[in-house]
Amino acid sequence: MNQLEPGTEPDPATTSSLLLPSAMRDEIIAHARAETPRECCGLIAGRDGRPTALFRLANLEPDVTRYRIDDAELYRLYRELDARGEEILAIYHSHPATPPFPSPTDVALAAWPDAFYVICSLAHPGTPDVRAFRIRGGLITEAAIHLVPGTD
Ligand SMILES: [Zn+2]
Repeated sequence: MNQLEPGTEPDPATTSSLLLPSAMRDEIIAHARAETPRECCGLIAGRDGRPTALFRLANLEPDVTRYRIDDAELYRLYRELDARGEEILAIYHSHPATPPFPSPTDVALAAWPDAFYVICSLAHPGTPDVRAFRIRGGLITEAAIHLVPGTD
């Protein structure tokens, strides 16, 4: 177990920023590129606000301009994580051709007020843009992403 020294990083429990390991950001971009022109989706598990694992999820939506997570798969993962004392820290998906900002559909379907919504835009394929948001009660708030070296 790796003990963090107090005061060296923002406390994830009290800030609205997402601590994201660089490897997970790379994994989201790789997943987005692999699914293009469809949107990819997945989730990041966490413990006490710190990412622990990334899971790719199936996108059930045939339309290329939106995504639909398999609720049964999500619920099964949620129960698995909960049993280990972990949580759904972030839900990510890609925007293959549009900016990294939640669409009206994304807002309408945002069912996890405690999770970050991470969007990876490939609108400029050479420079993918990954951003994080909170979506609560129809309101979008952008959250800063702090890249950290690893997961442990
Ligand atoms: Zn979207």
